[in-house]
Amino acid sequence: MNIWRLRNHVRYGRDFILDILFPISCLGCSQENIWLCPRCFRSLPINSRHSCPQCGQANKNSAYCPKCSNNFYLNGIWVASDYNNPLLANTIKKFKYSFIKDLQRPLALLLAIYLRQVLNQFRLTNQNLTGGKIWKKFSRLDSCPKLILNFSETLVINVPLHKKRFQWRGFNQAKLLTDSLSQRFFLDQDSDNLIRKKHTKAQAKLNKQERQSNVLDSFAWTGHDLDGRHILLIDDVASTGSTLNECAKTLKKNNAGEVWGLVVARG
Ligand SMILES: [Zn+2]
Ligand SMILES: [Zn+2]
Repeated sequence: MNIWRLRNHVRYGRDFILDILFPISCLGCSQENIWLCPRCFRSLPINSRHSCPQCGQANKNSAYCPKCSNNFYLNGIWVASDYNNPLLANTIKKFKYSFIKDLQRPLALLLAIYLRQVLNQFRLTNQNLTGGKIWKKFSRLDSCPKLILNFSETLVINVPLHKKRFQWRGFNQAKLLTDSLSQRFFLDQDSDNLIRKKHTKAQAKLNKQERQSNVLDSFAWTGHDLDGRHILLIDDVASTGSTLNECAKTLKKNNAGEVWGLVVARG
């Protein structure tokens, strides 16, 4: 028998057993054979509100406000959805802690829908308009991040996992989301050069102060000088923002331009 056919038989056999042991059903409505059906996916909220990630004051672009920005290297955090939605919270938990890799698809799609919405907000979807002085006349561009003005030049980077945690989970959930997003928007991606040098405790188990010191100086950049390039930094969830901020610190020490976080939710 042809080796590929044999391989397929083994693969189908394995999937068949997996399906019996761990049947797939929609996390929202229990419909069979799908982790999140289209109807339940459409019920997930897309965030339309911008605010300072630290003090919560409403603004136009989710940047840190002038008062808070002194304490952060990160320019701001874009949050695609809402962790208070039980279906979304459950989807993220199953993705991360029950190792259901397939859930990267709906979660990456949420990020993409949200990012498209942010781009549309500034109506700069397909072109760079940095040179066009006329655009400065439009007041909505006052708050337009440089990353969005130069969107096609943006470099997309995921929050890295330490080797030990990667071995434990078998995949980096932030990288899966980043792969999908960079492909969808035709952006350059670098998933190799931002590395986690310290194996830290899981942030979810710590309080606010502990979270900050836990991730302090735990990242390094092994790539070329970033030469002013703007960076979109992806993670699944942000809480205090200290992990994203430590990454931003490392990237800006290596001459990154703006660094914006993009996450599915804050929790
Ligand atoms: Zn459903
Ligand atoms: Zn603030």
